Amino acid sequence: MPEIKKLLIANRGEIALRIHRACHEMGIKTVAVHSTADADAMHVRLADEAICIGPPAAAESYLNIANIISAAEISGADAIHPGYGFLSENAKFAEIVEAHGLIFVGPKPEHIRTMGDKVEAKRTAGALGLPLVPGSDGALTDSAEAKRLARDIGYPVLIKAASGGGGRGMKVVPTEDEMDTLMAQAGSEAKAAFGDATVYMEKYLGNPRHIEFQVFGDGNGNAIHLGERDCSLQRRHQKVLEEAPSPIISAEERERMGGIVAKAMADMGYRGAGTIEFLWENGEFYFIEMNTRLQVEHPVTEAITGLDLVREQIRIAEGHPLTLRQEDVVFRGHAIECRINAEDPRTFAPSPGLVKQYHAPGGMHVRVDSGLYAGYKVPPYYDSMIAKLIVYGTTRQGALRRLRRALEEFVIEGMKTTIPLHQALLDDPEFQKGDYTIKWLEEWLARQQ
Ligand code: ADP
Repeated sequence: MPEIKKLLIANRGEIALRIHRACHEMGIKTVAVHSTADADAMHVRLADEAICIGPPAAAESYLNIANIISAAEISGADAIHPGYGFLSENAKFAEIVEAHGLIFVGPKPEHIRTMGDKVEAKRTAGALGLPLVPGSDGALTDSAEAKRLARDIGYPVLIKAASGGGGRGMKVVPTEDEMDTLMAQAGSEAKAAFGDATVYMEKYLGNPRHIEFQVFGDGNGNAIHLGERDCSLQRRHQKVLEEAPSPIISAEERERMGGIVAKAMADMGYRGAGTIEFLWENGEFYFIEMNTRLQVEHPVTEAITGLDLVREQIRIAEGHPLTLRQEDVVFRGHAIECRINAEDPRTFAPSPGLVKQYHAPGGMHVRVDSGLYAGYKVPPYYDSMIAKLIVYGTTRQGALRRLRRALEEFVIEGMKTTIPLHQALLDDPEFQKGDYTIKWLEEWLARQQ
């Protein structure tokens, strides 16, 4: 079995640190890569070695495959972990890594490719027995066909881009009159944004929750699920706060649906960590997509299962079997994660800059994943998330109380952050009850103006 001795982390920020920490606990040396804008970043400081891979623009550094592979060869790394974002769901990158004799800490390239094409992903998910949102069977070609189908499904319908991501390339079509125009618009927007005009249709769910299942496969037909996360609190399709378990999923439902997703992954021969995303409405799950990587919100699952997901990814990449059997996975308590962004908490305008003071909360069951330190300058070139605060409690109420206390302790001076937004959310009675859907936060924000 190949043992990883030195791992290159093809990422930055808190996730690069997260991976570094797992590696050092496993006795694995780390190689950080960084752009010129990140020379002083914490992931660079803590790694055993660091290699500059290009200028600030991500396209020339964190997305620069040739430079990343060169850095792995120069440093003698035997594996690459892509983190999330950047190259993590790039099948070609995974193939190139493997073609260089390096271990890719992630799924098989063909599975990344299949799930990256949403039409293909839906077809595969359906064949594996996952429940789908009613919609077109594959890509849509002309609007006459679209109208016929929409009449069967019932308006409103959603036109989505096959290569879409980040909530872009989607159009809600309220009635048949608007179909021609909106379908043409969706196609041309998709072409402009993703270089692919392919679109497909789904029933538009009016007020669902976003519920996703964490899965792990060993690549040899064994797979388990680690329960669900509720990520319904979103702004512009971006997750703001996540919790596990979902306030509305019963233990029986978790076991039933988890069993379905684990079996699907086993049948597929899936390797490594993955997330199956569903919309949930009136007791029904509808598959929307699969993410073939570690997710930002993975710590809430770690908190309630006690499993280190990055360690598990690395062990699977080395060829070990899964650490736990399904019956050994025990869900305990409740965990909540707040994404803290360097943004104005009202307008969401980015607010990068110098961290003048920094004090992270601590104490029992409080975790902060962040690359911040006093004197660090948050560069303006990348994602605005600067910290994740994760709290655990034996009950949801306990987790909420701990979250309030931890947010009070958090000091980040020198820039605006979304800490006040999370504090205000905690005061809302509907949020306290767990009574929210994917539309709730935007409506709540509109009421705060
Ligand atoms: P992307 O890859 O662009 O993020 P997703 O398919 O994951 O696209 O959908 C992103 C978000 O868009 C979902 O979390 C949900 O808020 C909304 N959405 C997607 N499909 C539907 C649908 N059929 N009905 C209602 N909302 C949807």
